[in-house]
Amino acid sequence: MISYDHIMVRFGELSTKGKNKQDFIHRLYLNIKHALKEFDGLDIESRYDHIYVHLNGKDYEPIINRLQDVSGIQGLSLVHKTENDIEKIKQDSLELIKLEEGKTFKVKCKRSNKRFPLISDDIVRKVAPVILKNTDLKVDVHNPDILLNIEVRDEGTYIFVKTFEGAGGYPLGVGGKSMHMLSGGIDSPVAAYLLMRRGVKIECIHFASPPYTQEAVIYKLEDLLHKLNRYQPEIRLNIVPFTKIQEAIYDNAPESYCITLMRRMMYRLAERLAKRRKCPVISSGESVGQVASQTLQSINVINEVTNLPVIRPCAVMDKLEIISISKKIDTYDISIRPYEDCCTIFTPKAPKTAPQLNEAKSFEEKFDFESLIEDAINNVEVKIIS
Ligand code: ATP
Ligand code: MG
Repeated sequence: MISYDHIMVRFGELSTKGKNKQDFIHRLYLNIKHALKEFDGLDIESRYDHIYVHLNGKDYEPIINRLQDVSGIQGLSLVHKTENDIEKIKQDSLELIKLEEGKTFKVKCKRSNKRFPLISDDIVRKVAPVILKNTDLKVDVHNPDILLNIEVRDEGTYIFVKTFEGAGGYPLGVGGKSMHMLSGGIDSPVAAYLLMRRGVKIECIHFASPPYTQEAVIYKLEDLLHKLNRYQPEIRLNIVPFTKIQEAIYDNAPESYCITLMRRMMYRLAERLAKRRKCPVISSGESVGQVASQTLQSINVINEVTNLPVIRPCAVMDKLEIISISKKIDTYDISIRPYEDCCTIFTPKAPKTAPQLNEAKSFEEKFDFESLIEDAINNVEVKIIS
């Protein structure tokens, strides 16, 4: 009996990338291979304009499902491969359309193999009558129940009806690596996911303040990263001991400036580690206006400590949008688990929404933060989440 034997993977955005295209495709090929490791018996074939997964008799649904999380894939089709022979194409099209439910159909053809003797329109004109004659289906060119696609390529002809959306974006890894500030909240895992979709790998930095913050926060981060492993199979988590720095801030600055100073220290640490780990940028889950430390004036004073670009994927999203993405990637339920963050513990009653740079600097001059930073960086604890 006839069956769909391949999944066709389309790249979409990649095709605009000119000479980098081959690197992109190769990266995507490796990412797909990795994502499909759990299914054995599949073959993956990389070609100039598509990647094909040979199903070898396996059920397509879980495989499509898995591929829908791989960034850089525009679309997926469940295809049947046949010979570049019009009689075969007619016969297989008929048999395949009989497997579908519906009352109306349309045949669409694309011919990239210019040596094939018939042009696309001719192929449609040969195939459609065979279907009309041998089934009860009627033609509807505007809104057909079944759209039968025929693509004639060099290596063979692909026939398909079912098409699925991909995650879009770029293959993970082509965009380099970002040092991502991960808290246990809702926003930072979403920001990480958005970066990954653009092909950027992340490495995480987390500031922990034991005994004020508990070990449970780390389990929470691990759970969050396990969810993100779907998009990036291996994520490095750097846990920075932050207690001494935080205490020094509270000893030397008024309460209203503590958050500002704390965040300046976080960015100094993130920059230090980013450089050490060869990450050209820092990223975070900050969203403009969300809290006192995220007003434009605060962002200005905080960002002043680093020359590295800071990418804030959630910057202009409102909370509901961020929450809806976090539900989609399944991090929401973990993020809302109650926990004590270093930010929540020392939250001042009236944090500055418009901190002044010279004031922030004057408080920092009162203690030797450089050596505290040095010390923290030398005592980073690393976990690889995979
Ligand atoms: P989130 O939901 O991601 O926790 P938030 O709305 O709680 O964000 P803040 O606590 O002000 O906002 O933090 C803003 C961003 O700063 C976070 O998204 C994260 O990128 C970073 N951040 C905050 N706390 C930490 C921490 N303890 N370790 C690492 N990064 C942090
Ligand atoms: Mg937070």
